[in-house]
Amino acid sequence: MSSTREIAELYDKFVMETYSQQVALVKGQGARVYDADGNQYIDFTAGIAVQNVGHAHPKVVKAVVEQMATMNHCSNLFYNEKQALLAKKLVEISDLDSGTKCFFCNSGAEANEAMIKLARLWGHLGGKGDDNDGYVEIVTMFNSFHGRMLATLTATGQAKVQEGFEPLPVGFAYADFNDIESVKAAINDSTVAVLLECVQGEGGVIPAETKFMKALRELCDEKEILLLCDEVQCGMGRTGDWFAWQSTGVKPDAFSLAKAIASGIPMGAVVASSKLADVFTPGRHASTFGGNPLACAAALATIGVIEEEGLLDRAAESGDTIREALEKISEDHPGLVTAIRGEGMMVGMALDPDRLEAADVVAKAREYGLLVCKAGGNAIRIVPPLNISDGDLDEGLEMLADAIGELDE
Ligand SMILES: *Cc1c(COP(=O)(O)O)cnc(C)c1O
Repeated sequence: MSSTREIAELYDKFVMETYSQQVALVKGQGARVYDADGNQYIDFTAGIAVQNVGHAHPKVVKAVVEQMATMNHCSNLFYNEKQALLAKKLVEISDLDSGTKCFFCNSGAEANEAMIKLARLWGHLGGKGDDNDGYVEIVTMFNSFHGRMLATLTATGQAKVQEGFEPLPVGFAYADFNDIESVKAAINDSTVAVLLECVQGEGGVIPAETKFMKALRELCDEKEILLLCDEVQCGMGRTGDWFAWQSTGVKPDAFSLAKAIASGIPMGAVVASSKLADVFTPGRHASTFGGNPLACAAALATIGVIEEEGLLDRAAESGDTIREALEKISEDHPGLVTAIRGEGMMVGMALDPDRLEAADVVAKAREYGLLVCKAGGNAIRIVPPLNISDGDLDEGLEMLADAIGELDE
């Protein structure tokens, strides 16, 4: 087998450099991963909040292998039972309203794109209850992340994601996260929806305040516009609820899913309440791979594991363990940690950039045998598998403390 260096050389020659990797991983089991040079790591990245049930969970492996050998893909020209069963399950666990339905695609960006199309079509079809079809604009939040396709990078309220890709699609406006007055100011006569992450992920692991969510719901109801949630990163049990909006007491009109939904078999989904569930009609939207039997089998198995292993409760408990350990780091290094935030097992620790760069902590932690990732605002993002053992969790947190201790003497 090739070494990390040999693999890196192949990348240099043949793979576009859109990332900057350091390690070649070859195997994963639970919360542990192994690299091409024989090193072992505790994985607090979980494939960026994808492996919520851990790497190579036997139940997911079994479901995928069996489905692959039976029928992995048949196209949406035909019914496939796994897609129907998955949709039913997602509708049940989301508990939006009766008449809720799903659409399946292959990634987070695609799920958001589908949700944007759904909102625009609803607006054009007179969704606000009159025959004006001019309602198309979507208000999103600064510092958000919704994907890298043209519509979704425009929805993403960060200039660095947009620069160089102009002309951008029209129909987006931006507001400050957790600031209802700013959202009010961004809404105008052509607004059709407000779209936000209930916990901003890439932006630095920043939860939406419950009072902000409640005010948004009231505002959207008053203006007769849609409230859309991007649950791509914070969904599927990560925060201790199936979906992060569930802890706010506020229901969106639709929400998107991807990352953890099928344990790494590419899948995205939109779950839409009755208001939007029948807006798409044949020919309005489609995906070749979307909701194929393989991805749906993986998603059904993943949801099954989250239920059987009680991982919603586990995420809440282990989230507390993580926060306690980070508080300790903060106490040991006065002034270094500027914020500890997040929900359940989606935790961010922002550092004073004059003291330590998050990127340097990521690199140093790796030397200690821990994989963590960065997020915006010079934050370390901690998103381990929800079923990581207490032992691995504690060991990983110690490695993080040691790495920071070495850098911030
Ligand atoms: C990762 C992410 C996306 C994009 O998902 P892809 O599968 O990479 O297209 C969208 N929204 C949020 C909140 C994300 O974290």
